[in-house]
Amino acid sequence: MNLPEAPQPRATPAPPKALHGLADTRGRDLRDLRISVTDRCNFRCTYCMPKEVFGKDFQFLERTQLLSFGEIHRMVRLFRDHGVEKIRITGGEPLVRRKLERLIEMLAYWDDLDLTLTTNGSLLKDKARDLRSAGLKRITVSLDSLDDEVFRAMNDVDFPVHKVLEGIDAAAAAGLTPVKINMVVKRGVNDHDVVRMARHFKGQGHILRFIEFMDVGATNGWKMEHVVPSRELVQAIDRKLPIEPVEPNYTGEVAERWRYKDGSGEIGFISSVTQAFCRTCTRARLSAEGQLYTCLFATQGTDFRSLIRGGAGDAEISELIARVWTRRADRYSEIRTAETAKLRKVEMSYIGG
Ligand code: SAM
Repeated sequence: MNLPEAPQPRATPAPPKALHGLADTRGRDLRDLRISVTDRCNFRCTYCMPKEVFGKDFQFLERTQLLSFGEIHRMVRLFRDHGVEKIRITGGEPLVRRKLERLIEMLAYWDDLDLTLTTNGSLLKDKARDLRSAGLKRITVSLDSLDDEVFRAMNDVDFPVHKVLEGIDAAAAAGLTPVKINMVVKRGVNDHDVVRMARHFKGQGHILRFIEFMDVGATNGWKMEHVVPSRELVQAIDRKLPIEPVEPNYTGEVAERWRYKDGSGEIGFISSVTQAFCRTCTRARLSAEGQLYTCLFATQGTDFRSLIRGGAGDAEISELIARVWTRRADRYSEIRTAETAKLRKVEMSYIGG
């Protein structure tokens, strides 16, 4: 593409200070916890849970293997003691976990906790109000295209766009705002739909975020040539709908923020591949069966379920959290190569997006 110069992005913020005394080996604080509540999903997005791998014979976790809501609640309490301020419930598809509202209610007990959830939106129309009543504050909905044919092919279960749009409307009506919308952009698949997506959501109060296709897991056939660098998207959007950069809300914010110059809202770019943000990464991830991971691209986690079910006290669990975090040295996206992309990394559907 031959495009005009786009505005410059904001400068990379300085590494975060250790606010709560639990810094990793690179001085990064533990501030966010993503919790996968299930490894199951009702979509088979080709870039995440390809049918050839996650087919009928795939062995998902048994119910008894999943952390119970009580166990998750306890982990959150202990993580809070270490300074965690933000929880994102994810999966798999979190809304397929039965009675999820109950967990939200339990976590919403801490009203200073920034509690949010990421969903594919397929079940959202019916659940938005209950989630809000249970205490969920905001929501992120994944939607990769407005082109029905493209979207059905990407989710690979023939799920139509209009039902996700209904879910987004229901979330906004329920007050789960601002609704964030995640679009993973894959070259040659849905990149033609980027400006249309921007135009569609502009002025609605939602925040559309474009995510570079990542080499998570080991099954999505990732190649660098499938990645559309965010810089390219910024230029393509700016040409049609002029935008300018915005200061980050806080150090370590994943999405680079931009806004429309006409004041009609904000969009974001998540550029894990072309502009690694490891330096400011304050996220830990707890899998549905209680394995703790300190990087989305990890190959190994630390088992907390055995500890919990073996009768460990709070002090022991808390001490292990501290040990895992203070030893953390991950910076996968900074050292990614075609070779590292082939590592047997944990699947995103398991660890949580
Ligand atoms: N099922 C929920 C959903 O669809 O949002 C939550 C889990 S999903 C793994 C979380 C997010 O990860 C989604 O926005 C999804 O598009 C994104 N994702 C999955 N695989 C990805 C990849 N290879 N590169 C970039 N984003 C990916």
